[in-house]
Amino acid sequence: MDCIFCKIANGEIPSKKAYEDDTVLAFYDLEPQAPVHILIIPKEHISSCAEITTENSAVVSHIFEVAAKLGKELGLEKGYRIVNNCGEHGGQTVKHLHFHLMGGRQFTWPAG
Ligand code: 5GP
Ligand code: ZN
Repeated sequence: MDCIFCKIANGEIPSKKAYEDDTVLAFYDLEPQAPVHILIIPKEHISSCAEITTENSAVVSHIFEVAAKLGKELGLEKGYRIVNNCGEHGGQTVKHLHFHLMGGRQFTWPAG
């Protein structure tokens, strides 16, 4: 399958890693939108949030544990934003489930 995040997960495409274990990889976004901008992905290919099921959802809670750990490690005690863009209207460009962990500046709400 021609998926760039699968290739990043298996090392075919290099990335700057922030965290890795058997099921999850966190790496720095190529085009950061904040002083800290990390993408957290399951190593397993799940195409979007819309494809989360009872069978594969455990990795999503694990991703949020990793986000909390990275937030502490990276000194984001003032807070951060976790974003998932799902599908066309959500603005998803890479069709492999990923959560943006962004911090180090003030964010506004509602988001565009
Ligand atoms: P989306 O718009 O799908 O929510 O986010 C995709 C994100 O992946 C974008 O922020 C984009 O900058 C990032 N991205 C796309 N290709 C690569 C890549 O090859 N390496 C890294 N590190 N980030 C990428
Ligand atoms: Zn993939």
